Amino acid sequence: MAIAIVGAGLSGCVIAHQLAKAGKRCIVFESRSHVGGNCYTERDGKTGVLVHVYGPHIFHTDKAHVWHFINQFGTFKPYAHRVKATVKGQVYSLPINLHTINQFFQQAMRPAEAKHFIQQQAHDIPNPQTFEEQALAFVGEALYEAFFKGYTIKQWGVSPQELPASILKRLPLRFNYDDRYFNHPWQAMPEEGYTPLFERMLDHPNIEVHLQTSFNPEDAAHFDHVFYSGPLDGWFDYRFGRLPYRTLDFHKKVLPDEEDYQGIAVMNYPDAAVPYTRITEHKHFAPWLYEQTRGTVLYEEHSRACQPNDIPYYPVRLAKGQALLQQYQAEAERLKNVTFVGRLGTFQYLDMDVTIDQALDVAAQYLARAQI
Ligand code: UDP
Repeated sequence: MAIAIVGAGLSGCVIAHQLAKAGKRCIVFESRSHVGGNCYTERDGKTGVLVHVYGPHIFHTDKAHVWHFINQFGTFKPYAHRVKATVKGQVYSLPINLHTINQFFQQAMRPAEAKHFIQQQAHDIPNPQTFEEQALAFVGEALYEAFFKGYTIKQWGVSPQELPASILKRLPLRFNYDDRYFNHPWQAMPEEGYTPLFERMLDHPNIEVHLQTSFNPEDAAHFDHVFYSGPLDGWFDYRFGRLPYRTLDFHKKVLPDEEDYQGIAVMNYPDAAVPYTRITEHKHFAPWLYEQTRGTVLYEEHSRACQPNDIPYYPVRLAKGQALLQQYQAEAERLKNVTFVGRLGTFQYLDMDVTIDQALDVAAQYLARAQI
C-alpha cells in the first residue's frame, strides 16, 4: 500500500521526498492547482516581478542540517531581511535597535547608555506571560505603544493581554546598529523563487502528485499511513467547532511605471489608524532579478478573522490556552495511521526552517518504525 500525503506545502513535500528516497511509494493530494503551499511564488506577467503569492516568506535558519537539506533543491542567494516602520509620519528602523531608540527619543546614546535608558523604561515583570507583559518588560510603555500595540491588535484581532509572550519573543532587541530582522546565521532566498524547490522535492519516481484533488479522511484506510498537513479541525469535519485563525487579504497593486515604490521589501505600519499592517514590495526580495523586471508589485496586508471559505494563515493561540485545540489534539492522538503535520495540522505558528525540521523528524520517525 502507498502512503498518502495530504498537502503539497513545505511539510508535505519534505516528507514525500524523504519517504520516496527511502523506497516508499507516496501519493500527494493537493487541493490547489499548484505545489508549494503558501510559499508558492510566480512571476507577475506584467512586470516580471517574482511575487510571493501568499505573502512574504523569508528563509532563515540556525539549523545546519535544515540549511543543507534545502540547498539540495536550488541555489540560494544571500538575503539579509530588513524592515522599516512608519509611525506617525516618521520612518524608523526595525527591529528595535540603537538607531530606533535614538530616533524615537531624539538622542545620540551609545550602547551602554541606551541599555541603561531602556532598563529604566522597562517594567519589572519577573515572568512575563502575555504579549503585553513581555513588551513592557522588554522595552517599556512608549516603545510598546508606538511599535507593538497597534500592529498586534490589527494582526491578531485581540488584545495583546490575551496573546502569549512567545509571539513577541520572535523579535530581537539590539543595542547596536545591526538592523537585520533575523539573528540567524543563514538568511537567504531561492534564486528562482520557492516553487522550483518544491517541484524538485517531488520529482521522484516513487511520488505521484494529484493537484486540485482533496483527500477524504474516510479513505485513510486505503493507505499504509496518512501524513496530513491540512487544518486539524478540518480532518474531523469541525465537529467541536472551528479553531481560530487569522486570514490575510492582500490588496495587490501592480505599478508598471514605478521603479521603486518604498525602497525596501517591507514597511510596517504599526499605527492603529492605518488599516493594514504592512506593505511588501516584492521585487526587493530578489534584487538579482532587478534587470529582468519593469515596474513593481505591492501587497498591502490586511488581517482579519478567518471565515470558513478563507485561507487560514496564522493560528491564534491565546495565552490562557485553548480547550478546543486540546479536544482536537486528543482525537488526533487516537488515530494511529494518521500523522498531523505542519502549521495547519499542528496549529502552530511555524517559520519555514522549523517546519522543515519537524517534517524531517516526522519522516525519520516513521521510517524507523516501519523497519521494526
Ligand atoms: N510586531 C509588532 N510590530 C511590528 C512587527 C511585529 O507588533 O512592527 C509583532 C506582531 O504581534 C507580530 C509579531 O510581532 O505578529 C511577530 O512579528 P513577525 O515580523 O515575526 O511576523 P510575521 O512576519 O511572521 O507575520
